[in-house]
Amino acid sequence: MKSIEEFLKILNISEDEALDALVSAFSPTPPPTVRQNWNRLSTFGNSSPSSEEIWDLLCEGDFKCTKCGSHRRITIDHINSDASDHSKENLVLLCYSCNRGRSKRATVDFNHALKIYKATVSLEKSLGRFPELKEIKESAEVGQIGSATYLVKFLKVKLGYKNA
Ligand SMILES: [Zn+2]
Repeated sequence: MKSIEEFLKILNISEDEALDALVSAFSPTPPPTVRQNWNRLSTFGNSSPSSEEIWDLLCEGDFKCTKCGSHRRITIDHINSDASDHSKENLVLLCYSCNRGRSKRATVDFNHALKIYKATVSLEKSLGRFPELKEIKESAEVGQIGSATYLVKFLKVKLGYKNA
């Protein structure tokens, strides 16, 4: 939990605010909401199992991703890619990240920001100054900083350096 405490300190946010974000990130989407979405969209055959059936599925799967074991942002995936086939054998729990990786859309690296964050904080500590983007990129072992550029700028401000 040490790195979480450090994060709270750097961002200067209260424990309740952080807890609120965690509670929201780790709570499953309420079955009635899943049901509403599926009923609304033709992709899902404008049909859906009952809230009870969705809830049972979540409970049986212990609210975690069958692929990577993550408890974060759990979704219900259709195994045979027929999103209108809601038979129990065709439904499986996947986290948002694994679910997206499975679809044809480009896979987003959801650990990207975390890698950049960890590298930045650790480099700042060991170097005694704010690291260069190049150093962060190497240390985080990412291809590019990309959309995390503003995360780095944000950390720079939060770590007490003048606005970049
Ligand atoms: Zn997963």
